[in-house]
Amino acid sequence: MRVAIIGAGAGGLSAAYDLTRAGHAVTVFEADPTPGGLGGGFREPDWEWSVEKYYRHWFTSDRDVLGLIRELGWEKNIVVRRPVTAIYYKEKFYAYDSIPSWLAFPGLPFPLRVWNLFIAGFFLKLNPFWKWMEAYAADDWMRRWFGNRIYDQVWKPLLVGKFGEENYRLINMAWFWARMHSRTPNLATYQGGMQAFFDQLAGRLGEMGVRLRYSTQVERMVAHPEGGCELQVPSGKERFDVCLATFSPHQLAAMASNLPADYLAKLRSLRHMGAVVMVFELSRRLSTQGVYWHNLPKDAGFPFLGLVEHTNFLPPEHFGGNHIVYCGDYLPLGHEYFSMTQEALQKRFLPALRRINPEFQPSWVKKSWLFKTEYAQPVPLIRHSRNIPSVRTPLPGLYFAGMSQVYPWDRGTNYAVRLGREAAKMILEDWK
Ligand SMILES: Cc1cc2nc3c(=O)[nH]c(=O)nc-3n(C[C@H](O)[C@H](O)[C@H](O)COP(=O)(O)OP(=O)(O)OC[C@H]3O[C@@H](n4cnc5c(N)ncnc54)[C@H](O)[C@@H]3O)c2cc1C
Repeated sequence: MRVAIIGAGAGGLSAAYDLTRAGHAVTVFEADPTPGGLGGGFREPDWEWSVEKYYRHWFTSDRDVLGLIRELGWEKNIVVRRPVTAIYYKEKFYAYDSIPSWLAFPGLPFPLRVWNLFIAGFFLKLNPFWKWMEAYAADDWMRRWFGNRIYDQVWKPLLVGKFGEENYRLINMAWFWARMHSRTPNLATYQGGMQAFFDQLAGRLGEMGVRLRYSTQVERMVAHPEGGCELQVPSGKERFDVCLATFSPHQLAAMASNLPADYLAKLRSLRHMGAVVMVFELSRRLSTQGVYWHNLPKDAGFPFLGLVEHTNFLPPEHFGGNHIVYCGDYLPLGHEYFSMTQEALQKRFLPALRRINPEFQPSWVKKSWLFKTEYAQPVPLIRHSRNIPSVRTPLPGLYFAGMSQVYPWDRGTNYAVRLGREAAKMILEDWK
């Protein structure tokens, strides 16, 4: 069988691995010049490790991606650390990533700290049943069970930050449960940076016979009702028995417009947020407390949602002794940040770094990079499982496995690997 996979991100590469092992001829089309998708990175000449374009770590509970790495025999390259995640309260940052830190947080009176720990730490962490929760808005459920004070202080800023004022009241509780249930304070990455993992995986696929066609944008796909699928690429049309698309639902609707109307409507009805992330290379450490992940409430006036000091997770020696800081935000498409220049955004962002470290000077910035994506975070509404388009599309030669289908889990490399492998399994079952 001839299979085309569109996208060399974690999902596409994982699917390619299983389909090739099963003896099929796989071609991966990737618009970028390198593999990795949203998980990819870049490297300056004096850095030993690459830096991810969008801040990134795995959790030690990410069984699918870590399992794939083990399966490939590269386990020794998994690096595990426990950096500090903090929340903001009255111009200061407090660690908020362990039972003692939750109990010590001054933003809540003592009995509420215990109540917060009980609901979030025990109920959401230990309860395995999520389905019923998708009938509730996280905003209502959390206000009711945590109480106004805890919700407003700790959890609401996360929801507003991720989904914006226009969406946060509509997000269902199962999505929030999944975050609390699956995440660990220990974080993992790959020796050399995540790009090293994607390069190594793509290299292995090449050895196995996969054709990896970088810098090749698929412009249109036509799947035929009687089977088979045709791709339009810049060099012409190419025909395959099966195509697997791993990008956004809106993109699939635009590119495969001969899908039946109800499936197209489902694709188009899904909402998502974009992301804008600026990466700074600084000559000095920013957080004197050594915080890795700063959660910033929008109403405190920061021009971004999250500040991540990568070199408080990994040593600056990997990056020529410099300090890597990300400032990022999830935004609705059409937000002004998408059209602002790097210079204008840098001007907007830099003054806020003084709130992290009052000694910060713009002269600490050695270099900066700006990354923008329109498809960064699916928006899971009430009873969202009904809205998810199936991996098997109604056209027999066309499959779809993207970030919007990993629900109730929050999008992540781990779930892209899981979904890519599930899609490969379905293709193998259907084309025995
Ligand atoms: C700001 C941000 C932070 C994140 N942080 C984390 C994190 O800390 N940990 C984590 O595990 N995950 C994180 N994620 C999520 C993670 O990046 C995604 O879950 C993962 O990349 C999804 O993989 P994928 O293969 O499904 O899609 P993608 O990575 O999006 O890959 C799809 C690929 O398809 C290609 N493509 C699209 N259209 C075409 C076309 N027409 N022709 C050819 N190629 C095409 C794209 O170039 C891309 O390479 C983050 C995401 C964002 C945006």
